Amino acid sequence: MIKTIRPILSSYFQMIVYYLGLYEEDMAQVVKQRKWACQDCILRSGNWCSKKKHASVINYNHKSLFKNKATKVIVGCGCWLKAKVFYQEPKACPLNRWKQFNLK
Ligand code: SF4
Repeated sequence: MIKTIRPILSSYFQMIVYYLGLYEEDMAQVVKQRKWACQDCILRSGNWCSKKKHASVINYNHKSLFKNKATKVIVGCGCWLKAKVFYQEPKACPLNRWKQFNLK
């Protein structure tokens, strides 16, 4: 439980630091890129990564485009995006759209 609460509290703290204008410029750029990634996301609902929305993702086998494909249904995480974009771990995005937007 503590393992999950700590990064969430940290992201809220980072959000406060950001809105106070005390955030480092390169980190602020990463936050903006994450916000842009969320902007047109199918799982977004207002300021939330909605648990009520889902997306089907097809994973293709690299050796064959038509064989061995698997469909996976991905659901939104239910997080408030204004704070979630400050989450340290880029894998926090259920659709992995933040993989190149790393805050570390
Ligand atoms: S966190 Fe990821 S899945 Fe959720 S709204 Fe943003 S881009 Fe979409």
